Parts: sequence; C-alpha cells; structure tokens
Amino acid sequence: MAKDPIVKLDLFINGGDVPTGSYFEVRDPGRFSEVVATVAAGSAGNVHDAALAAHAAFQTWKNTPVRERVQRITAAAAELEKQSAELAATLVKEQGMLLRETARDVANGIKSLREAALLAEPFLQAEEFEDEDSWVRVEKVARGVVAAIVPWNAPMGLTLGKVGPALLTGNTLVVKPSPFAPVAISQALKTVAAFFPPGAINVVHGEGEVGPALTHHPLVRKISFTGGTQTGRAVMAAAAQTIKNIALELGGNDPAIVLDDVVPADVVPELMKGIFPRSGQVCYAIKRVYVPAKMYDKFYDSLCQAVAEFKVGYGLDARATLAPLNNRNQFNFIKGLIDRTRQSGAIVRELGQKLDPDNWHNGYYVLPAVVRDVPPSAELVVSEQFGPVIPLIPYQSEEQVLQMANDTEYGLASSIWGRDFERAARLAGRIEAGITFINSHARTALGERHMPFGGVKQSGIGRVRTTVGLAEYIEYHAISLNRKTLPPLQTGKS
Ligand code: NAD
Repeated sequence: MAKDPIVKLDLFINGGDVPTGSYFEVRDPGRFSEVVATVAAGSAGNVHDAALAAHAAFQTWKNTPVRERVQRITAAAAELEKQSAELAATLVKEQGMLLRETARDVANGIKSLREAALLAEPFLQAEEFEDEDSWVRVEKVARGVVAAIVPWNAPMGLTLGKVGPALLTGNTLVVKPSPFAPVAISQALKTVAAFFPPGAINVVHGEGEVGPALTHHPLVRKISFTGGTQTGRAVMAAAAQTIKNIALELGGNDPAIVLDDVVPADVVPELMKGIFPRSGQVCYAIKRVYVPAKMYDKFYDSLCQAVAEFKVGYGLDARATLAPLNNRNQFNFIKGLIDRTRQSGAIVRELGQKLDPDNWHNGYYVLPAVVRDVPPSAELVVSEQFGPVIPLIPYQSEEQVLQMANDTEYGLASSIWGRDFERAARLAGRIEAGITFINSHARTALGERHMPFGGVKQSGIGRVRTTVGLAEYIEYHAISLNRKTLPPLQTGKS
C-alpha cells in the first residue's frame, strides 16, 4: 500500500500560512516508523504577531451583528462536515486512536459549533430596566483576544468547543494545539477561518516558549485552557500577571460506585464504555471502581472476562477495539505504573489480544489491565492514570465509599450504578464533582443539551456547553441613565 504523503504544516496568522525556522515531526503512535507531518515550531515573536492580528480583527468582529456570526459558524460547520471522514482518518494517524473514536471527536466538534450557534442570539440579548428616575441596560460584550490552549486527546471537540462560543460572542482567537495532535485540528481551523475575517482565528504551534508567551501576552484577555492540572497551575500563575480571565478544564480521577442491588454482568458492559474509550485517555473516564465487598470476586471476574475480549491494534484496523497510547511520556508512565502497582502487592491482570504482534513494538501499545487488592492510598487509585488500567476497590458501607470517592483533589465527573433511583440520586448529590451520572458514565441526548461540563476542586474552573459555557466568553457592561440630573433634550418640533 502506498504511504500517505507527509503533511507540512505552517503557522496560520492573519489569514495566511507562516513558515518558521524549525519544524518538528509528528510520528504515528501506532507506527513510529511513519512520519505523519512536519510542523512549524513557533516562537514568542510568532505569538506576538498572532495576538496583534487577533486584536486587530477584534476591533471590527466585535461589532458584527450576532445573526451574521451565527450564519458564519453554521456555514463553517456544514463545510467541516464535508471533510469529516478525511479529518477523522488524519487524526488516527497523528493521535493513535480508533477511527470510530476520532470520527466521534470530529462529530462532537461540529455539533458543538451548531449547539453554540443555536444558543447565541437569545443569550446575547441585553436586559433593560426602567423606572421614573432611571434607565438601566446590561449588555453582554466580548472580552477580546482569547488564547485557546488544547491537549491531544480530543482535539476536535475540545478546540471547536472553544472556537464556536468565542467567535459567536464577538471574540477572536489564538489557538495553540498540542504538538502530539496538531494536524487535523489545524486543517479544521483553517476551514473554519475561511468563513471569518483574517485574524479572527490564528494558530501557533510549538512547545517551550509558545504556551507561556500566550498566557503572558497583554493583549490576551481570556485563556481557555484544557490540559493537565500541573500545566493548569502554570497557566493560572501566568494569567495573574495581567489579571486575565481564565477557564481551566483539567484532569480527573473519576470514581464509579457500584451499589449492592446490581448483578455484575448487567453493569459491566456499560461500565466498560466509561473506562476504556480512547484507551482510557479521556479526562472524564472512570479511573477507579468501588464495589461492595460481598460482590468483589464476582465483579472482578465479570470485568476481567469483558476486558479479555479487547483486540488491541492499529486505529485504522477495523478489527481493533483498543488502540495504542498517544505519546512516549504517557506510555512510559503507564508501563511504570503497572510495574509499581504490581510491586506493591496488588494483583494486576493484563488481558486482551495483540492483533498484530509484529507491529507491537512499533507503537505505544499496551494491553488493558484490571487491578485488584490495591489499597485505597495506592498511586493507581489516587492519581490520574489516563490509560487502560483500572483498579477495583472493595467497600463495606455507603459512608465509607463516599469518603473514599471524595478523598481526592480532583472532582470532574463520577457515576453511581444501582437499581434504586432514590438511593442513587441521594448518593449522587453527596459526591464532590462537576458531574455525576447514574447508570452510565456519559451524557444522554438530554444531558448534552442541558449539562454544563466541568470540574470542581483541582479539576478546573468554569464550564463548557450550554449558556453557562457561552457566559465564559463575555463581560457585562452595565449602563445607566439618571433621568433627574439634566432635563431631557428636546427633539423634533415643539
Ligand atoms: P498538558 O497539560 O501537557 O498540555 C495541554 C496543552 O498545554 C498543550 O497544548 C501543551 O503544549 C500546553 N502547555 C504545556 N505547558 C504549557 C505552559 N507552561 N503554558 C501554556 N501552555 C502549556 O496536557 P496533555 O498531556 O496534552 O493532556 C492530557 C491532560 O488533559 C489530562 O490530564 C486530561 O485529564 C486533561 N484533559 C482535561 C479535559 C477536561 O475537559 N477537563 C479534557 C481533555 C483533557
């Protein structure tokens, strides 16, 4: 089979491609031997140019009628849809995940543009109040230049989930993709940018100085960051220098609490959908499972049986049901974590089938693992693994399991699994998290429309989706008139 050509990706500033003096390689996480792209490494100077371009575009874009913004976003979403299949395939090669997972990421991105477009017009309406003495108007106005800094694990949904609300509310953007998945999102951003004035969307690639140059830049008024909690701290500290507004979508260590009125085999298939998508590389994947002590053995057996069915292989191999990890750090961390967990005395069962053993060491492939007899204080339980390794922890009582579930600095999502809705809902209300699902670990269609997404504690600040998400991108401008101070101007003939 002929190899795909290597993509050469420049920066994108003020509507044009900008080459730089050095390019970094993106290799296929499922086939290291293949270079997917060479990408321009940006500098602080490039960030400055992008911020100036975004600032200049903001001066006119902020005055564009909201209806026109909605039309442009809607048209951009339709154009992106035509490119969906190509974008999803490109994403597999740079990011490593299964084609159906990358296709979902692309679809999520397009959907988020459309959802935000539907909400924008009513949301941005100003409010007016008046009495005999005065008149008051509260306007929702754009903030200015938004820095959108994104990770590699779901670049389409996460980035377009910032771009839509930012543009619809009248802001402009400088986007910094992750060096581990910059290609498909850059292609998508250029497609969207064609529907907007030059400078409305700019893209600067790179590591090192690029992120900090953006988070320190005085023209950037808002940082919308998605990534690890450690990086989030650096972003927050940088933002403090110029008092920027920030939204942080950070890591999670989501607990799933199984109640004692379920049969393991009824719960395990749905639970698996919360643990293993994207090979566990999801901010709100289930990262620890609490099981009543009396059904611990049975639950463990049932979960192992299901995990053994995984076929681990290349993302474009239609037989694969679990794909490789994305990058070397992640791979080394997961391998080390498995070793350390085993050395601690826990039982670690690596399961599943290697689809293409000859290619196994040509990618970041790992077998999924189920871990039992692991203490609640173990590294695997208290940290965010971000990989296909899941600990099972037994519990004796509701109070004990709530205490263990909440004993963390994270608070993104969580789930309760049980047949008694009243009981599950009561427990759900006592979990410290931005989101708690009951009997699934994903949003329903209704949830997608109405649930603001985000975390509490060190899982983040702010929310995405719904009008709560749109509100992240606006300032309030309150204007009032005192009717008593000056007599009203006479207008017309008197
Ligand atoms: P990361 O924090 O390493 O990188 C995220 C982005 O920040 C990248 O573009 C990176 O280049 C950039 N960056 C790195 N240092 C920076 C700095 N000093 N200043 C500014 N930018 C900087 O995260 P990652 O490894 O790409 O992604 C995985 C993490 O993201 C996981 O912890 C996951 O839970 C989290 N995540 C959270 C959500 C959410 O919605 N809460 C969604 C997806 C991923």
